[in-house]
Amino acid sequence: MKNTGILFFPAFDWSLGETHPEREERLLYTQEQLFEEGILDLPQIKQFAPGMAPLTKALLAQAVFPSPEHHDLDAHLIAAGSTLILGDALAKGQIQNGFALVRPPGHHAGATVLGNRGFCTLNNEAILVNHLRAEYGYQRIAIVDTDVHHGDGTQDIFYHDPNVLFISLHQDGRTLYPGSGFVEEKGGPNAWGMNVDIPLPPGTGDEGILYALEEWVLPRLQAFKPDIVINSAGQDNHFTDPLASMNVSARGYGRITERLKPDLAVLEGGYSIEDALPYVNLAILLALAGEDYSGVVEAKRPTRPEVPLSQIKPYIQELKREYDQVQANWLWRAEASLPGGYWAYIPRTIYYDTEGFQEMRYDRVRQCSHCGGTVYIESRRPPFHTRHALVRVPFAACPECRQAGYDLWEYLIGRMESVTFQDQPGNVVQFWHISKGVKVFGPSDPRP
Ligand SMILES: [Zn+2]
Ligand SMILES: [Zn+2]
Repeated sequence: MKNTGILFFPAFDWSLGETHPEREERLLYTQEQLFEEGILDLPQIKQFAPGMAPLTKALLAQAVFPSPEHHDLDAHLIAAGSTLILGDALAKGQIQNGFALVRPPGHHAGATVLGNRGFCTLNNEAILVNHLRAEYGYQRIAIVDTDVHHGDGTQDIFYHDPNVLFISLHQDGRTLYPGSGFVEEKGGPNAWGMNVDIPLPPGTGDEGILYALEEWVLPRLQAFKPDIVINSAGQDNHFTDPLASMNVSARGYGRITERLKPDLAVLEGGYSIEDALPYVNLAILLALAGEDYSGVVEAKRPTRPEVPLSQIKPYIQELKREYDQVQANWLWRAEASLPGGYWAYIPRTIYYDTEGFQEMRYDRVRQCSHCGGTVYIESRRPPFHTRHALVRVPFAACPECRQAGYDLWEYLIGRMESVTFQDQPGNVVQFWHISKGVKVFGPSDPRP
């Protein structure tokens, strides 16, 4: 039996539209089910009330362009703030694990935010990770994403961070949004091997996903020895989910939770709001609390064909071999406009499905064998020519990378439309905008 924290933030007044799959009543049936089953009366369950994250906490993880005031972030800051409340309870020993049943979700929101994508604007888990590191001194954190969609935003935020292991299990990106998440995406040059993407074939069921977990995810976690494991607990692998094509059951999710033993689970997607979410959430919560979840059985039966384990086994083994064989192939060079040292350049594009545009990204990271390296990202939103920049002094930065970050921040002011400067070890964010000047977001800023 474990003391398990639970926190509901259903965001009943926030949605992307009445008929949108990410809508207000997503957590309604779950709440009813948990009340009906008397889960909240179990002696080991402790319920917490939601709260808003300070904007600084969000901006330490993500740059919001053209400026934070440009977006309505309130619901997102409460979803993020609620995960921080459970994180605090865990760090202070008030609970042994916890489940943040919050929306809106966050795992598609990346290092730069130009709007909503994949129903996400702020990344709840990323904000939580930086908070836990800054406030409680945790060094190594693992995030395991069991949502059916590739957790591309979380991957983006930690791609250059050697202290965060990110593992995403998801339906193959060639068959589902956001179209990424392949074995070649192994991490940035200073964090090579800290990103593991495991694309699964459509139709994968309980046995298949558990096989991938046992054969690949758990051994990798054991080798990393994280201080904390966070589970991005998306539920759209369920056999009734309308957006995806997988075959996982509520009890399958219970097994995943039992084996993974996350310290904190944070709700991500899941759009079968009557037929899946109440059952999956119940199974996850029972597994976290050390209770029997074998009686959690959905009213509906699976109708999709399931990929047999005899096909999943060789597929996973081959994928793992491919992952081990992918070679790092970075081109380092000194650049006249950048501070001293060598930089790797990684161009990319990011599709915003909600509004329908491509963000152009020009990512750079400073070569360093002592820390994650200064990160410099330039972002453009076509068809406009405006340029925005993110400069990040990483968690546990070495003195050279910290200095490089400050030099870059000063150099970029006046050359961009806006610059966000994340001093992660200093727990401070500085923001400069062409018409607003400099604003400093300190640790004590209570509200946006
Ligand atoms: Zn999803
Ligand atoms: Zn460094």
